[in-house]
Amino acid sequence: MGLPDGVKTVADRLRGARLTAEEECVRRRVLERFATGATVNLSTLAERSRIAPAQIREILRRLAAADLLVLDGTGEIVLAAYPFSSIPTPHRVHLSDREVFALCAVDALGVPPMLQKEVRISSQCGYCGASVEIQARPERVTRYFPTETRVWFPASEDDCCPIAESRCPNISFFCTSDHLETWRSVNGQADGVVLSLLEAFEAGREIFGSLLAEPSARQTRRRSWRSR
Ligand SMILES: [Zn+2]
Repeated sequence: MGLPDGVKTVADRLRGARLTAEEECVRRRVLERFATGATVNLSTLAERSRIAPAQIREILRRLAAADLLVLDGTGEIVLAAYPFSSIPTPHRVHLSDREVFALCAVDALGVPPMLQKEVRISSQCGYCGASVEIQARPERVTRYFPTETRVWFPASEDDCCPIAESRCPNISFFCTSDHLETWRSVNGQADGVVLSLLEAFEAGREIFGSLLAEPSARQTRRRSWRSR
C-alpha cells in the first residue's frame, strides 16, 4: 500500500521546482542546519554560504513559494523545512546527541534515510496520546512499539499551501487500527490511506531518501523508481 493517488510529495515539488545551483545550495544548507537542531535564519545562512543576505532572502522566498520550506512573517526565519519543524510537534526525532521535531509521522520516518543515520523516534497516538517508540536505521525499522502502530495519510483534496499547515498535522501515528478509525470518524477524515508502520517507513524513505543525496544519485534513484 502506497500513498493516496494524486498526492504531491516534497520530492515531487523539488523535482518540479528546477532549482538553480544557488537555490539548491541554500536548500541543502537549510536541511543540514535543521539536522543539527540549530535555528535557521537568514543571517546564519548568509554567513555560511557566502551568498549576500539580499540574495538569500530572495532564494528563501522562492523555496517557500515552491513549498519546500515555510518562513515566518519577516521572511528571515525558516519555521519548517520538510521533514523538520522548528516549532515543537508530537514527533520527536532523537539523533545521537540532539533532538529535532518532524512535521508529521511520515516525515519523522524519512529522517534516517535522508541523513543516513540511525534514529529513535518518540511520538504518540493521535487519538489517545499513548506513546509510540520507533528505532530505525537508514534502510529499515529495527524496533517499534506498540506493534499494532498505524499511520494515517490523508488524500490531497484539502491541500493548500503550505502543506506543513494543511496536510501534515493529520499525518499521525495511532496505537491501534481501532484508535485510528475512531479518530477518523470523530474528525471527519474521509479519504486517505491507513499504512502499517513498515509501509509508512517505505513512504518516508521514498520521499526523503534522496533529498540530500548528490544530484547524480538522485537521478539514478528516480530512474530505478520509475522502472519498477
Ligand atoms: Zn491510541
